[in-house]
Amino acid sequence: MDNKLLVKNRECGECTACCVELVIEDPKLVKLPGVKCKHLKRSGGCGIYQTRPRTCQEWYCMWRFMPLLDKSWRPDQKGVLIKRIFEKIPAGYEKKLALNFEIIGKKSVIHDINFIEVLAGYIVQGFPCFISYAKPKRTLQMVFLNEKLLPFIESRNIKVLKEKLSSVLESCVKSSTNKMIIKDGKVSMMPRTYKSYNYNKGQ
Ligand code: SF4
Ligand code: SF4
Repeated sequence: MDNKLLVKNRECGECTACCVELVIEDPKLVKLPGVKCKHLKRSGGCGIYQTRPRTCQEWYCMWRFMPLLDKSWRPDQKGVLIKRIFEKIPAGYEKKLALNFEIIGKKSVIHDINFIEVLAGYIVQGFPCFISYAKPKRTLQMVFLNEKLLPFIESRNIKVLKEKLSSVLESCVKSSTNKMIIKDGKVSMMPRTYKSYNYNKGQ
């Protein structure tokens, strides 16, 4: 996003969500998701602000760009980090801004009527929207929401919307199992180890 589009007079304030949740692979810093950056000060500021990695200088969550989201949507307050994404966008949606609503706080936020209204608003406008659940040091599983939710948004069936969101978020939680590690200065997935089956066991 062009930083000229940042909402005027909106600041990060006390929020440090991106210093915890982001994966950073930069010559100056390699960091796993869901892990507090080693440069994050107790008081909340960046300990290497003047020389912080380029990723940190350039990255902003979407709350900083979306004027219609009020202060309650600051990620540390809402427990939702909205990220712009560039991958896994389904056919037909490629030209639209794609948003991932990453749940970083309480899961119950998905039943918050304000959360549902905002998400539904973007879906109705045709923006591809995803949801994911932030698990420390685990790969992020995003689920595409538009086609799953649109019929229930159109029929204004809040009860079913809540049920669908719960089941999708639970699937994100269950499938975020791949562990991330830092290897050779890069963030990668930990190789799965296979236990050899002991055919003689119990015989
Ligand atoms: S998550 Fe957003 S509001 Fe929070 S520190 Fe990062 S850019 Fe600022
Ligand atoms: S280097 Fe600074 S800005 Fe970047 S993640 Fe760490 S604390 Fe945050």
